[in-house]
Amino acid sequence: MKEIFLLKLGEIVLKGANKRQFENKLRQNVRRRMKKYGNFDVYILQSTVYVEPMDEEADVDGAWEACRSIFGVVSLCRCRPCEKDLDAIFDAIENYLGDDLDCAKSFKVESKRSDKRFPLTSIQLSQEIGGRLAEAHPGVEVDVHHPDYTVYVEVRDLSAYVHGPAEPGAGGLPTGVGGRAMVLLSGGIDSPVAAYMMAKRGVEVEAVHFFSYPYTSQLAKDKVIELARLVTKYSGRMTVNVVSFTEIQEAIRDNCPEEFFTLIMRRFMMEIAQRIAKGDGCGALITGENLGQVASQTMEAMTVTGAVVDIPIFMPLVGMDKKDIISIAREIGTLDTSILPYEDCCTVFTPKHPKTKPTLGQVVNAEKKLDREALIARALENVEKIKVTYHDEPLL
Ligand code: ATP
Ligand code: MG
Repeated sequence: MKEIFLLKLGEIVLKGANKRQFENKLRQNVRRRMKKYGNFDVYILQSTVYVEPMDEEADVDGAWEACRSIFGVVSLCRCRPCEKDLDAIFDAIENYLGDDLDCAKSFKVESKRSDKRFPLTSIQLSQEIGGRLAEAHPGVEVDVHHPDYTVYVEVRDLSAYVHGPAEPGAGGLPTGVGGRAMVLLSGGIDSPVAAYMMAKRGVEVEAVHFFSYPYTSQLAKDKVIELARLVTKYSGRMTVNVVSFTEIQEAIRDNCPEEFFTLIMRRFMMEIAQRIAKGDGCGALITGENLGQVASQTMEAMTVTGAVVDIPIFMPLVGMDKKDIISIAREIGTLDTSILPYEDCCTVFTPKHPKTKPTLGQVVNAEKKLDREALIARALENVEKIKVTYHDEPLL
């Protein structure tokens, strides 16, 4: 007998006139994610996404795992559909949930009736089914206040559905309803978490990475591609734009005062990222910056680096403690890769005494020997675009 998933929508249901658009996006995202696991029908009724396997070959467990990381879903459950009558509902519970029920000390039945043509009220339905179950499982007590286990019955338009407790979903908003943005992805802990957080707000994420071969190794680049792959578990596919940064870093080293190296380098990163972003339809940049964490993350430094950009820069981690960022990284599965010891280009030519309270005038003056435009144009000529999805082979 078949099992189907019900995914309950989160904040989406509050969005009034935009609701339809949000639902369509979510259905499209779920459909795309399910492709890999076989033939599934995905439809939305009464603010619930139904995911239904259409044949025996469908990989139901794989699909379930994937559904748990889809943004826009507040909770989800696996359930058994059945006829909308008492005997059929009781039999479905016995077959599908009987063993779980036997493992509990106490239980209750909670019913929801969105098909108002069903002859019993929710309370009557719970009482009737609860009574029959109590008879069939004399070792398990009925406890309507603090039950060990709850059996749910939902009488909906197409059928009735029975299930055990729902699991929390990934939350947030469906990827894509918040527009598209480009994350500056380093090999560190912070930027993958920043990408995840903006994806959770419905933003489609693309990435740019600055790479300083031979100062940084191929492994450092693979690490970033692997981090992007891990983020796509939540965000859906992304393209990583790999920009060779060596010439720019050497030009800065040879032509600028050391205390401004990092700031000037970051201004190049921002400006190049913005140009790629605009070319790829992204309306904002995302960084993993965090106030006060390093010398280039003071307000003054952010003013100087932000000055080259005219689209919003989202910094979802700006006010967080490092330990909280680390715990998100652990939860989403990027931490172990982030802490692999391959050098990032920021650690190349790091000044001994970086300027923490720069003014824009000082920095513009410090970079005046550089032909910024020519350097940026050459960097943009050789951008490597790498498409990444979660189903790619892990790189590390
Ligand atoms: P992270 O842990 O994300 O590397 P961080 O604490 O090391 O951050 P910085 O090195 O100052 O901080 O970098 C700040 C932000 O700048 C990063 O979060 C990232 O968004 C961006 N960034 C840094 N280095 C690179 C790089 N090589 N390529 C792309 N973006 C980068
Ligand atoms: Mg870093």
